[in-house]
Amino acid sequence: MELNNSIIQVVYLVASALFILSLKWMSSPATARRGLFAGEVGMVLAIAGTLLHRGILTYTWIAVGLVLGTIIGVPLGKVAMTAVPQRTALSHAFGALCVTLVGTAHYFINAPYISKFEMSVLSAEVILGSLTFTGSLMAAGKLQEVLPQRPITYKGQNFVNLGLLAVSVIIAVILVLDPGKTNLFWFMIIIPLAFGVMMIIPIGGADMPTVISLLNSYAGLSAAAMGFVVDSKLLIIAGALDGSSGMILSVIMSKAMNRSFTNVLFGAFGQVASSSAAGGEAKTVRSATAEESAGILAAANRVVIVPGYGMAVAQAQHKVREMYDVLTKKGVEVLFAIHPVAGRMPGHMNVLLAEADIPYDKLKEMDDINGDFPQTDVALVIGANDVTNPAAKTDQSSPIYGMPILDVDKARTVMVIKRGMSPGFAGIDNPLYYEDKTLMLFGDAKGFVGDIVRELSGGHH
Ligand code: NAP
Repeated sequence: MELNNSIIQVVYLVASALFILSLKWMSSPATARRGLFAGEVGMVLAIAGTLLHRGILTYTWIAVGLVLGTIIGVPLGKVAMTAVPQRTALSHAFGALCVTLVGTAHYFINAPYISKFEMSVLSAEVILGSLTFTGSLMAAGKLQEVLPQRPITYKGQNFVNLGLLAVSVIIAVILVLDPGKTNLFWFMIIIPLAFGVMMIIPIGGADMPTVISLLNSYAGLSAAAMGFVVDSKLLIIAGALDGSSGMILSVIMSKAMNRSFTNVLFGAFGQVASSSAAGGEAKTVRSATAEESAGILAAANRVVIVPGYGMAVAQAQHKVREMYDVLTKKGVEVLFAIHPVAGRMPGHMNVLLAEADIPYDKLKEMDDINGDFPQTDVALVIGANDVTNPAAKTDQSSPIYGMPILDVDKARTVMVIKRGMSPGFAGIDNPLYYEDKTLMLFGDAKGFVGDIVRELSGGHH
């Protein structure tokens, strides 16, 4: 018996170490694959160790759970990369549901013989678990556009929401003082479930990824609380890692979009976004063909490519890699400027460019490349829009005012590949397109870059 327990503890220790290494390795594209693998092995060890537990009398229900989880998990793993944010939200919902169920079972098995400490963490576990469950389902629904993306607000909303949360906490305090009040326990689940829905209603689609990352953090914290309840150090460690990394990511994303946390949670962002795009005199743009673009690119000393959401939708990264190869061969220095919220999820551009085998050292973060744009001959924007919008610096009435952007307008020539004049995620016009130095290259990102590659390789002439 003792030996069995020691084996479990060693397995858990190795799993914890792997989780920590996994996070460390995932922070650089060069080691990210190894990081993912370490995380997977850690998770398999964690599950295997738990299955060795001598408290398990029969494996029937565990087997049912494994089969069910596999049936749900495998298709979830196969969604398109652009759907990863809502997929992630669904995983948080399942994790949070699991935590809530375990907490509830633990309560009803042991009540009223629960210590004050145990009841406190159990309450935290159940409250966070319940609100994360419904909150994540709502977030996934909004992103998948099953639910309206538009923020829904009403007078006194924050008061109602904070009130719900306050009532849950009061119930928790009563239960800590008297864990025997089993009827009250249900309200500690139902009210946070309602809070989870109400919390997401006023938040617009634009802020959803930040919110999902925050919900990630809540799910982790509730799992850590569960670790205290069921006395598992592994869960405490894994939950704390999840909780803190989710929080750090939310902060990074808020900063990159120039939104404060409270602003994301209470601001109802996105409701006025489209109004500023309309009106005004008809402005003209200059456009160019693939042949002309190829000529300009080939004559440049330095080209900085700015990828965005459009490159992802068009799956143009492999063509971009071909263009990078031809230009480099012609002696042009080619760099990539990565905005922290380009695309639709953190690291979106890094993943795509890594998939196309672009050398990691050519990828430059916003703060490192911005100073170089004045010495850049061509800034080639491929399917990016908001992250290059100078209105963020100059137009105080713009909804993205204050958001840090890539200073492409400082380059000698700007070329923008996109299909038309449609706005990006924020739904606003981009003054960059009307500048004299800007050339619009209208077309699908993959098709247009492919045409440029053909011209550069001497296709027609
Ligand atoms: P964006 O502002 O959404 O603009 C993307 C542009 O790509 C569109 O204007 C569109 O114009 C063009 N496009 C679409 N399909 C295309 C295709 N097949 N070929 C060529 N162009 C195509 O993208 P972004 O500059 O990457 O900015 C990201 C935005 O998402 C920011 O507002 C950011 O705050 C927000 N956001 C990011 C994250 C994140 O974590 N990364 C999370 C949430 C929100 P056309 O229709 O004219 O082609």
